Amino acid sequence: MDAGVHRIVFLGPPGAGKGTQAGALAKELGIPHLSTGDILRAAVAAGTLLGREARGFMDAGRLVPDALVLKMLAERLAAPDARSGYLLDGFPRTIPQAEALEEVAPSEIVVSFEIPSHVLVARLSQRRICPKCSTVYNLETQPPRVAGRCDRDDMELIQRPDDRPEAVAVRLKVYTEQTAPLLDFYRRRGRLRPIDAAGTPAEVAARLHAALR
Ligand code: AMP
Repeated sequence: MDAGVHRIVFLGPPGAGKGTQAGALAKELGIPHLSTGDILRAAVAAGTLLGREARGFMDAGRLVPDALVLKMLAERLAAPDARSGYLLDGFPRTIPQAEALEEVAPSEIVVSFEIPSHVLVARLSQRRICPKCSTVYNLETQPPRVAGRCDRDDMELIQRPDDRPEAVAVRLKVYTEQTAPLLDFYRRRGRLRPIDAAGTPAEVAARLHAALR
């Protein structure tokens, strides 16, 4: 990947593996991994005003209103560690969010994770996360060492409320209607780099590295 390219966006439907790849790549590049979903879930767990406002939308699989997410992200991007760049995972998700990002710190590369929806539904139903450190597991393909417990901090793993089938259906519809138009937004700006997101994390990581070169 070119030296100096440090503002990256991961775009793709829920369950495409963005979070798994983002964690590893951000570490490699020495830039913060900014997942708006993780930040919102932490706010919900801490019971902050933002968390209380966001929770109902999240549990139902709907998007949190742009105004709330934009304020939250502007604060996060203003922190010193984000000066050297960022890897955004789960943001932007609407055209107004993408336009707002253009104003503050435009992305240089947008990786789009492409995957058929039946694979997503299967992955999301098997997904479990650590409520403390946000590590993601898959009961079939990436199980924890001890059943039901996080490898890192031994916390009991949970299923995200929005990974239940009713919410998954809403999230996939929301993705198609509100987020998929961003593919064109970035394609027209010449920044879109699609990758095939089916397969193991290692296979996808190899395609990701190739796409960033
Ligand atoms: P994620 O972990 O990225 O799947 O996000 C979980 C949930 O958080 C989403 O279903 C939304 O309710 C909310 N969320 C995360 N990022 C955004 C965003 N950029 N805009 C609106 N809602 C968001």
